Amino acid sequence: MTELQNFIDGRLQPAASGEWIDNIEPATGKPYSRIPRSGAADVERAVESAKRAYPGWAAMPIEERSACLTRLSQAVEAHADEWAVAEARDNGKPVGLAKEVDMKRSASNLAFFATAIQHFASEAHIPSGPVHINYTHRKPIGVVGCISPWNLPLYLFTWKVAPALAAGNCVVAKPSEVTPMTAYLLSTCIEAAGFPPGVFNVVHGLGPEAGEAIVTHPDIKALSFTGGTATGAHIQRATAGTFKKLSLELGGKNAAIVFADSDLEDALRTTVRSSFANQGQICLCSSRILIERSVYAEFRDRLVEKARNMSPGDPLEAGTKMGAVVSEAHRDKILAAITRAEADGGTILAGGSAATAPNARCADGYFVQPTVIEGVPSTCDLNQQEVFGPVISLMPFDTEEEALALANSTDYGLSATVWTQDLKRAHRVAAHLETGIVWVNCWLVRDLRTPFGGVKSSGVGREGGFEALRFFTEPQNVCIQL
Ligand code: NAD
Repeated sequence: MTELQNFIDGRLQPAASGEWIDNIEPATGKPYSRIPRSGAADVERAVESAKRAYPGWAAMPIEERSACLTRLSQAVEAHADEWAVAEARDNGKPVGLAKEVDMKRSASNLAFFATAIQHFASEAHIPSGPVHINYTHRKPIGVVGCISPWNLPLYLFTWKVAPALAAGNCVVAKPSEVTPMTAYLLSTCIEAAGFPPGVFNVVHGLGPEAGEAIVTHPDIKALSFTGGTATGAHIQRATAGTFKKLSLELGGKNAAIVFADSDLEDALRTTVRSSFANQGQICLCSSRILIERSVYAEFRDRLVEKARNMSPGDPLEAGTKMGAVVSEAHRDKILAAITRAEADGGTILAGGSAATAPNARCADGYFVQPTVIEGVPSTCDLNQQEVFGPVISLMPFDTEEEALALANSTDYGLSATVWTQDLKRAHRVAAHLETGIVWVNCWLVRDLRTPFGGVKSSGVGREGGFEALRFFTEPQNVCIQL
């Protein structure tokens, strides 16, 4: 069985404890590799190494830091085919999706911040009177932590480490223990990309052990975390009083609002994707589909037909559009949410249970049918709690005000999608949505320069573009008497 290693101080190494955690392939339900069960001792080693590396890395000319990131981006591109298979095996997502989305975006994240840092200028304040001038020096913070989830493993891992490194910080990063493989593969390329030892450390292990050690380490001055809302709340409590800088990207319960005047064909095609892509395990997936009553029946019936025609396949087969959900525990959580929705009065229009395995290899894998449910009140769990699986709830509305009230009726506020041909309405509705991101007549279109993040229980802070570079730097104002 393949044994993954931590990458600390420029060297691949096992956990100090010598212990391992089995890594399970979701499509087969069988362990196929194991990862170091790291803890405080490994994080301590990584932090000490990062502290030693920091002065040199922070002082390195931006062009040289940028070149290291560019070379790492090129390594992702060079290994894209092989790593897409690794990602599909580790996560259960279709290999085609892993190649088209995860690998491309991971390479782009590194390439984007390699150049973004070269265009990151700080402000100067020309004197209002004749006497003083101010300029703002944006300094790297020092040693920072990055913790990422399992749904878009390398994509979200690189989305954090790239701006942190570009800004001149040294990093201690932990991928999810559920999907550690591609972060490990990336770590095997760090040295060849030219990063000095200690600049970029990758520590594997469980959240409450390795993750907690990163969160609570006094020398880690900033933490960028993506994951569940409950974990985000725990991290806020665990760091209260330490004045650690936090960026928290958390869960979502995103609405797609379909007005009767929208291009229904386009709305339908995209809503199928936004509901079931990556088995519904994207924080931006729409899980509540709000449909104007005059087109409700037509839209519902066509959506249901499409969902019934989809079934999960072997993630490693090229034509597969839907794969396995990430773990047994997660599959059971999704199925329990469906059972609860039925108890709350929901009618299952498509799916509703575990899916049969696509082949003998996947006989013990974790597959869920794409599921469409209607008739659940907006206050019930299905419409309030994140399921994070291929399960959507349909709700009709009569007026724009009602659509907005329904869309804003959860504690979450990550993203929303609005379908309408009425330009004025699009602007009006977008302005009243309580979310960090709004898509109008599209979904998941990402320009890496734009701010990314949620409001309410979906998080604190913004990633993306200069927002990320601002997060990973500390502004110091210098005032000069002329
Ligand atoms: P999770 O919170 O269980 O784990 C995320 C990461 O945190 C993992 O690396 C885990 O090991 C670590 N962790 C867990 N407990 C920890 C602790 N006590 N201290 C430090 N680290 C700890 O989330 P998950 O199940 O891996 O991911 C799914 C969640 O992520 C969903 O809620 C989804 O919406 C959210 N998500 C949000 C975004 C976003 O950008 N807002 C993007 C993707 C996923």
